[in-house]
Amino acid sequence: MCKYEMISVLAAPGGHASLLLTPQTAILIDSGYAFSAPRMIEMLKQHLQGRPLDYILLTHSHYDHASGSVYCREVWPNLQVIGSEYAQYVFTRPGALRVIREMNQTGCALYGDGTFVDKLDDLRIDIALGDMESLQLGDVRIQALHTPGHTRDSVSYYWEEAGLLIASETTGTMPNPPVVNPEYLIGYQMTLDAIDRLAALQADAVQLPHRRNLLVGRDEVEDFFRRSRYWAVETKNRVIAAYRQGQNKQQLMNIIKDMYYVREKAKGQPEDAFMLNASYTVPMLVKECTGDSI
Ligand SMILES: [Zn+2]
Repeated sequence: MCKYEMISVLAAPGGHASLLLTPQTAILIDSGYAFSAPRMIEMLKQHLQGRPLDYILLTHSHYDHASGSVYCREVWPNLQVIGSEYAQYVFTRPGALRVIREMNQTGCALYGDGTFVDKLDDLRIDIALGDMESLQLGDVRIQALHTPGHTRDSVSYYWEEAGLLIASETTGTMPNPPVVNPEYLIGYQMTLDAIDRLAALQADAVQLPHRRNLLVGRDEVEDFFRRSRYWAVETKNRVIAAYRQGQNKQQLMNIIKDMYYVREKAKGQPEDAFMLNASYTVPMLVKECTGDSI
């Protein structure tokens, strides 16, 4: 019997950070924004009660998931940050770091107090995992499952003995249950493949991104992946039908906005950021499903 606790340490709206605590190991799942890191670290210290933070598992390189890792490293110098090989590469690119910095500034202006100490040049992944690669983290054995679709570097983690799945953002988010928001930015079919791959694990519990509570129980997990697939397909169907009727890119983006940019989502994601995502999703769907570039 594997003992663990999953504790949300989300210190600002949006973003994601949860602490996976076992008798031997303390693992942070994603690490939130830069500006909210000091508050998140205080929350972590309260829960850790003198224990060190041992690892951070990053599900992808987006600013609202990865930025806080830099600040944790200062407090816990032996900490190791784990992510996909592609995320490791992303952090070496000046252009990617510039976007991460700008998005943090925007997020800070909206949800923070306007300033943060910028240490983002130190973003890095210490241990890069290939698909299916396993790693022993104290009493936790995780397997990395590459699940691109949201980003190229999206990775999910499965702790088989505990039946615990940490799902990447590719399989969607749930700010407004029971609807599952598709979060595909770079690929439609690869997203469906990721949903099927993770559903087939038949996990007992799933940690979703941007969510405080675990989904617990096979029925709830199965139901989530069924709805994840349904909304992924439904969104594609509506966008492609409207495209075939002659709607332009902005109108197609508004279909997605009308479907998903509801009050709960708006609390954690600025409209600009939501529409920026839609501006990737729409051309991706049209290209993949019709071959046209818009
Ligand atoms: Zn996210």
